[in-house]
Amino acid sequence: MSEASFPLGHTVPADAGAANRSGLWQACVDLLAQEVPEQQFNTWIKPLLAEVAEDISKVTIYVANRFKLDWVRTQYAGRISAMLEQLHGQPVRLELALALRENTIKFYPSKSGPEVSVVEAVSFSEDASGGALKNRLNTALTFDNLVEGTANRMARAAAMHVASMPGHLYNPLFIYGGVGLGKTHLMHAVGNKLLQDRPDAKVLYIHAEQFVSDVVKAYQRKTFDEFKERYHSLDLLLIDDVQFFANKDRTQEEFFNAFEALLAKKSHIVMTSDTYPKGLTDIHERLVSRFDSGLTVAIEPPELEMRVAILINKARAEGTEMPEEVAFFVAKNVRSNVRELEGALRKILAYSRFNQKEISIALAREALRDLLSIQNRQISVENIQKTVADYYKIKVADMYSKKRPASIARPRQIAMYLAKELTQKSLPEIGELFGGRDHTTVLHAVRKIGGERQQMTELNQQLHVLEQTLKG
Ligand code: ADP
Ligand code: MG
Repeated sequence: MSEASFPLGHTVPADAGAANRSGLWQACVDLLAQEVPEQQFNTWIKPLLAEVAEDISKVTIYVANRFKLDWVRTQYAGRISAMLEQLHGQPVRLELALALRENTIKFYPSKSGPEVSVVEAVSFSEDASGGALKNRLNTALTFDNLVEGTANRMARAAAMHVASMPGHLYNPLFIYGGVGLGKTHLMHAVGNKLLQDRPDAKVLYIHAEQFVSDVVKAYQRKTFDEFKERYHSLDLLLIDDVQFFANKDRTQEEFFNAFEALLAKKSHIVMTSDTYPKGLTDIHERLVSRFDSGLTVAIEPPELEMRVAILINKARAEGTEMPEEVAFFVAKNVRSNVRELEGALRKILAYSRFNQKEISIALAREALRDLLSIQNRQISVENIQKTVADYYKIKVADMYSKKRPASIARPRQIAMYLAKELTQKSLPEIGELFGGRDHTTVLHAVRKIGGERQQMTELNQQLHVLEQTLKG
């Protein structure tokens, strides 16, 4: 971030200066909100009070007690420091201070303070104290704020159906797809909708890792009966990221039991995973075949229009109108998943607020500079040609050659398609880089592969792999 982009040095009225200073901290908190898991954010970041020095050379964070201070220092200080610097455009000294009861304040400079390991003492064991049947639903994740598009239409429709008539069709519902595509959101939406219609329904959302840890606890404490009672009594079990069951034999066994018990009494089960059931590794065959016995649906990465709609919707939810051209600019550049799209949006909002500038393409470009430069650095047409040639075991030279056999022509078309998808190059430029081919040849390849991708699962899978490899 260059100094020029944040005109803080300019003389501004005293009040505006104070507003700007608190804006710096607020922008930092906004950015942290996107990086830190929600529960941790609420526990550790939200309560922090900060004082920004008049010349913005220093930020002092006040923490309630010693234990918290150590934790914030070890876990978050480095990141906070880096963010402040990024936002301000020059280094900002970070100090952590203990706000003692008598108003005396002890300072612990962040760099030289005593190192105390507090990791042991900290546990986020919300469930241990919480009610036995907290449903763990996040009420903010609903169908209403889940944008629909071709990428998630099937999954959304199935989930909606389950929410309105649990225990009937599509049981279990198995939703799979890459990270940040809205699987977890969809699950919470199902739970929230069911509770809206039937407030007394017994619903539980649980991440597979938490289930594993519940099994371990029940095992250690010999409380399997309670464990069973708890799980087997549900009307709706939402279990997230079941790929985490891999290699956990005891967990798989318990899950199998719960699964059978729930299906027998027509309770509904919704699962998510990063892959389709048969693609799961180190999970017992009998469980895999159960997973696949209801309805299995994929969520795909969102297409451009859906990404645009998501950005506009999310900005609106934050009380900001994002001009369509800006949404297009961002959506064109942030392609992989919705979580990254949200991250990009938060950055833009934070920059705009802090800068007190309208959201424009120029501002978005500035806010996303790191992200855009990484993309430009990593993905070049040459890189794509090499990666695709390696993948399909042909020579890189065949990317520019005039040879026409399908074994070569097809990978070449795939490379052209990826070049169009992943770089900013125009069709004629891409044609040039593929041995001086006409732009219509490139266009034909882009349309052909793009169309086939919708129909052919195997091709789609290969393209996913190539895209992930190229994005690094
Ligand atoms: P996954 O579980 O597939 O990794 P999440 O459900 O955690 O993904 O989604 C990542 C973020 O993107 C969440 O904040 C979620 O609310 C948001 N999100 C995903 N898909 C959509 C969508 N179609 N519309 C609006 N927000 C979405
Ligand atoms: Mg998830």
